[in-house]
Amino acid sequence: MAAPVHITFLGGLGDIGRNCAVLEQEGALLLIDCGIMFPDTDMLGVDVVLPDFTWLRERADDIVGCVATHGHEDHVGGLSYLLREASFPVFGSELTLGLARGRIEEAGLLKRTELTPVADGETWTIGPFDVEFIPTTHSVPEAFATAYHTAQGTILHSGDFKIDLSPVDGRLTDLARIGALADGDGIRLLLADSTNADQPGHARSETSVGEVLYNLLHHEEGRRVVVACFASHIHRIQQLANAAVSFGRVVAPLGRSMRRNVTMARELGLLDIPDSALIAAEAIGDRDPGEVMVICTGSQGEPMSALAQLSTGDNRFLSLSEDDTVILSSHPIPGNEHAVTRVIDNLMRAGADVVHSGISDVHATGHAKREELKLYQSIVQPEWFVPVHGEYHHLVAHARIAEEMGVPVEQVVVAEDGDRLVLDDQGLRKVERVPSEYVYVHGTVGDVGPGVLSDRQVLSREGLVSVIVCVDPAARRLVAGPEVATRGWVHPDGSSGLLADLADRVAEVVRSALADGTTDRAAIAKVIRRAAGSFVSERTRRRPMVVPVVLIAGD
Ligand SMILES: [Zn+2]
Ligand SMILES: [Zn+2]
Repeated sequence: MAAPVHITFLGGLGDIGRNCAVLEQEGALLLIDCGIMFPDTDMLGVDVVLPDFTWLRERADDIVGCVATHGHEDHVGGLSYLLREASFPVFGSELTLGLARGRIEEAGLLKRTELTPVADGETWTIGPFDVEFIPTTHSVPEAFATAYHTAQGTILHSGDFKIDLSPVDGRLTDLARIGALADGDGIRLLLADSTNADQPGHARSETSVGEVLYNLLHHEEGRRVVVACFASHIHRIQQLANAAVSFGRVVAPLGRSMRRNVTMARELGLLDIPDSALIAAEAIGDRDPGEVMVICTGSQGEPMSALAQLSTGDNRFLSLSEDDTVILSSHPIPGNEHAVTRVIDNLMRAGADVVHSGISDVHATGHAKREELKLYQSIVQPEWFVPVHGEYHHLVAHARIAEEMGVPVEQVVVAEDGDRLVLDDQGLRKVERVPSEYVYVHGTVGDVGPGVLSDRQVLSREGLVSVIVCVDPAARRLVAGPEVATRGWVHPDGSSGLLADLADRVAEVVRSALADGTTDRAAIAKVIRRAAGSFVSERTRRRPMVVPVVLIAGD
């Protein structure tokens, strides 16, 4: 009997973001990606959401490495957090490692982390696994599908992918290699990207966006053009630069990550912009508007980004006017629509013309749609299939596609974050659950925890009422207070009667508690919280957070 292989999903199944899966054989753990998720608007003050590392933490010494499939934050952004608690080598393409390096360096972990570059078609032995890196097309260059040759046969992970037959760099998805694996010993298990499983047809080729951008530029003679796109979308930046150069414009990268990535991609030979066609943001003002194309960050409406600053007149290198056309070469990620709309409104207020994906084909997705997913299934013909990278409805839609393409229903497993599966001689099945909560990060303080977050939600919706008393337990006497302070519940000026009534009610219950022999600080606080809570609920039908403060006289 061959050794079983376990697969544990810590993120990316049920939400788009914080992708992290763990392959395990003979006690060795190999991570496939370690990403972050960007917070929803109700996750107040949260910067990023991490996978739950509780289970990994207990087995930190067993981690033999992490395979980084590509350089997007939802695949590599979590490394800088996990690497604080565990040490392991990271394998990925030059660009993937280049994009991941920033956060790892900022966390001061670069010195003790081995970043191992791998090239197209190579196979690396990592712990008990032979891992093959297969070129695949996506919205960032140098992305990989990965094949894991295990004791239980070959497991193929599609990575984020689309089947782009005319990619900007000519690097095609290596369907021939995938077909050869399928024809050889066969693919025992396929894990594949479900992001667009409910979208009909094929994803458009990235080069088709180039044509649209070229045509747009044709109409913008004499006007400055500002384009926002993802800073990691090197192929989009290449096509923008090509269009700019062919109309005699120079390119000015704007925004920290845009400047950094343009420099890095040129050094790696992945981005071809002649020196003469590149200017620094500082020099934008020296040129006539019609001579410049600004390429900037902020296409998702991120509040601190270059585009958001431009929209509010807060960018120090450029202020927009009627001479500007702004192109959002992107599509809002679900949850960001409102932020993007607000930025568009402000850009228009500043006088600019705005072109976005709602009115022109200035963007193409990086994820395969239904017909491509069918093609993939028909080539891979997996024995078992688990849809990954999607919200639950995407996973279910992808499962149906696999069934339609001939994978037996009982060999399609829809799993979610926290599911641990085993692949053994009998096949694939779920065996247990591991912790998979959202882990919230705010600033550098570490994880915020669900308790802190629910407090923030109450504070933001209902406000806060603080009641301060000073008691003398020995004398069983209320010495001072209650003092009532509030933020965000009622306006104190117009509600002095209400606050006075609340103080009276609290004074009454505290006196009677003291008289009954309740002298403990926590017990008095509890009495106050209950009385104040029911008072505000009765009088205002609201539920602000009640914070009692009990001071002990003489303490
Ligand atoms: Zn992704
Ligand atoms: Zn991606």
